Amino acid sequence: MSTVTDLRGTIQDLDREILNLMSQRQELVQDAKENHGLMMNFPFQQAIRYMDQQEVEMVATLLQERVQIRAKAKAKKVMYYSREYQQEDTIITINGERIGDGNPHFIMGPCAVESYDQTSIVAEKMAQQGVRLLRGGAFKPRTSPYDFQGLGVEGLQILSRVAREQGMAVITEILSVDQLDEALPYVDVVQIGSRNMHHFPLLKALGKTNKPILLKRGLSATIEEFKLAAEYILAEGNKNVILCERGIRTYETATRNTLDISAVPILKQETHLPVIVDVTHSAGRKDILTAMAKAALAVGADGVMAEVHPNPAKALSDSKQQMNLYEFDCFMDAIRKVIR
Ligand code: PEP
Ligand code: MN
Repeated sequence: MSTVTDLRGTIQDLDREILNLMSQRQELVQDAKENHGLMMNFPFQQAIRYMDQQEVEMVATLLQERVQIRAKAKAKKVMYYSREYQQEDTIITINGERIGDGNPHFIMGPCAVESYDQTSIVAEKMAQQGVRLLRGGAFKPRTSPYDFQGLGVEGLQILSRVAREQGMAVITEILSVDQLDEALPYVDVVQIGSRNMHHFPLLKALGKTNKPILLKRGLSATIEEFKLAAEYILAEGNKNVILCERGIRTYETATRNTLDISAVPILKQETHLPVIVDVTHSAGRKDILTAMAKAALAVGADGVMAEVHPNPAKALSDSKQQMNLYEFDCFMDAIRKVIR
């Protein structure tokens, strides 16, 4: 025979179950009211009296589903890159340029820093065009180990000297965590190249700095993977991330990569981060750069990156796709006509 204590325990368990069911029912009523306009004002006891066994089971199943959906929604992580986390656009100020403010910004310069003269000729031309964000590779991620690998720290020194002389900011790629200490003092914006988008230790290490980061989309990365690479940096505390679409690998051979133009409005919609488009590495040819840049700005890009070299035919990297100084002038003039 059960003791009084046993009975009390069982009654308490039942009370807890009833309370639980009541609260689940309350949620369901709320849902019925909010989403289906149903009026369900009668009390629970009355309602249950009119239900047959099948209806009671149905309500129980619905309640269970709802509880599961709620639990799933609660478990969903809100990503730092998302509009859910931050509704307003992130604006990153570099050398007085507010990237993400709704105006187009330009990042120009040679593919690789080859010498002081080569870099400063390009920068002078850029200054005449009012472009103040200077790119150039000192550590080059080349496909072949036998190709020019960049001047390394000497390249960074050239870049920062030229930038100082012309009142510009330096944007350059860093390839690995062990380069950070010696490279960071010369750099205003760290570029993470396409081949390094999945280099998670580098993303994490840069997430611990407060340098603006220009993160390029991986050669074969989906938009989802691209956003998650940005998340690696944001999650470490660095909120200054600029996303850069630079074309993806497809079966098309007319261009070096295929510019995924749809990525721009999707990234603008799904993230609050500035988005720029590198037309040079997307196209791999220079005859269509102006059209591509116009398209990028038309779909909402916050800026355009392109490569310029005083003598592209002699360039130590990407000789086919860099604009010469005259082509750069024509490019900027043509773009200005559509953005004014
Ligand atoms: C670059 O911009 O210098 C470069 C190497 O580009 P990507 O990483 O997009 O190939
Ligand atoms: Mn290049």
